[in-house]
Amino acid sequence: KNIGIDVGGTLIKVASMENDVLSFNKFPVAQIENVAIEMNKLDDAKICLTGGKAELFESFMIRKPLHIVEFEATCRGVQYLLNKYDSKQQEYIVTNVGTGTSIHHVGKTKHERIGGTGVGGGTLLGLARLLTGLTDYEDIVKLASKGERDRIDLKVSHIYEDAEPPIPGDLTASNFGRMLKLPSTDELTHEELLASVVGLVGETVATTSVLAAQNCGVSSVVFIGSTFIDNELLSETVQRYTLLRGASPVFVKNGEYSGAIGALLYG
Ligand code: ATP
Ligand code: MG
Repeated sequence: KNIGIDVGGTLIKVASMENDVLSFNKFPVAQIENVAIEMNKLDDAKICLTGGKAELFESFMIRKPLHIVEFEATCRGVQYLLNKYDSKQQEYIVTNVGTGTSIHHVGKTKHERIGGTGVGGGTLLGLARLLTGLTDYEDIVKLASKGERDRIDLKVSHIYEDAEPPIPGDLTASNFGRMLKLPSTDELTHEELLASVVGLVGETVATTSVLAAQNCGVSSVVFIGSTFIDNELLSETVQRYTLLRGASPVFVKNGEYSGAIGALLYG
């Protein structure tokens, strides 16, 4: 049995492969010691670690695991999933929306990390707490999906009013840029605020990804990371914005386990 564990800043992702069948599990990073203790019980498993907290995880382990560089593991896992579900992709950008967001270029013969942005899943949780006091991921995502962004976000078409804008009027000119027009912010609902936070995160990661794609001369962006889990609003926002900006968005099933899958393939 091969096990890959991606110990990220927020979530621990575990991928196991037995007789060519993959299974997945995730845990909050607060449970790091308990997850390591469970892994210590698996005598016959070959364990490979990746992610920013892999060394901390190892400190709770009895047997020495193999370590895989995070970017290598992530890109290898994405390649594996694409081969399984969507094999036509050869060269693409991978955008991993984790706690933060990192962007990679996967070419035919090599891959490299080309940058990122601090706007990611941690921003979604952080701003959500600041604006609404909510801290539960599922609550936040559920409320966001019921919100309208009209009163908070300023679109290009708002600025150009009746004139013909030089870029699509539906693009956001300024995230949260319409709030100063409101007589009072008290009346804004949690739904509206959270919808706009999701918009900010989605549009930022889509925009930086499209710029990266154009820079590398590729057309597809593969989006992964746990921030897309049960988060249809974010997926839709990213999909729509990536298309609007001229690149092709790709979402792969179980994409949030790419790092863990990539790690186990080295075992
Ligand atoms: P990084 O790669 O930046 O070190 P990570 O690997 O822990 O971090 P992911 O697991 O890909 O990051 O994504 C973390 C994000 O996923 C959170 O910031 C949050 O927005 C979202 N998320 C999804 N499900 C949960 C959950 N059950 N609990 C907390 N956050 C969740
Ligand atoms: Mg991660």
